[in-house]
Amino acid sequence: MNDYLRKIGVLELNPELTHLQVPASDRCWWCGDIATTEEHRIKASTLRRVARLEDGTATPGNVYKSSSDYQATLHSLKKGPQVRWRKNLCGDCNNSKSQPFDRAYDSFEAFLVEHFDQISTWERLDWSAVFGAGWQEQARHFARYFGKQLGCMLATHQLPVPNELIDFLNGADRFPSTWFSLFINPRGVDAHAKMQGDGFEYGLSGFVGLLDANAYQTDGAFSGIDYGYHIGYLWFLVQWRDGVDVESWFEHQVIDLPRLTE
Ligand SMILES: [Zn+2]
Repeated sequence: MNDYLRKIGVLELNPELTHLQVPASDRCWWCGDIATTEEHRIKASTLRRVARLEDGTATPGNVYKSSSDYQATLHSLKKGPQVRWRKNLCGDCNNSKSQPFDRAYDSFEAFLVEHFDQISTWERLDWSAVFGAGWQEQARHFARYFGKQLGCMLATHQLPVPNELIDFLNGADRFPSTWFSLFINPRGVDAHAKMQGDGFEYGLSGFVGLLDANAYQTDGAFSGIDYGYHIGYLWFLVQWRDGVDVESWFEHQVIDLPRLTE
């Protein structure tokens, strides 16, 4: 299996932007209570799924991580800075308050894995095929899952969390300054086909990871951040730009699945 190790995690922040950072905090970035928990960078159930593809057992040694500070198989799927953000959420925010977001992510991931060979050919995605009649709130919760990841990433890097993000997680219908979008990476589609041709049944569905994070400034003030994640060839992009008003994936029942161009 050495040709196809499953990789997770690539995350960098431009060191030239350190002047945008805020002082270290022991508080939950969402509600302000004392922070007691660390959110997973990649959902624990996803890591277990990825680990299990290798030989049926969900052991950390089945997952290879490649990032700026780590290139090896994991020692743990549950603990440690390689799989978690810093301690920056309280228990209530990290568990009960965000449970609907986790469930929406789980539903989407199950749908994606089940239809992995087909979705790469689709031009559009109908949310009701994924989430049923309650698609709009579920697609929002799915976005909130990534919104929470974005907040944890910002807090881990001591960058300020936009108030609009907090409002969105607290139930606001829109998060206008952030664009939540899906893309299909054609190179990933090719790699998936090649792996299956080489006898790897699950192909690229076991490759998950974070994309490089870019931060932006305008006149010396923090004005934008990109968060990206992928499951196989499907990319999830979350782009915050201070002051803009854009539509996101949960605002239409049927959305385009554009191809990534590099
Ligand atoms: Zn909290």
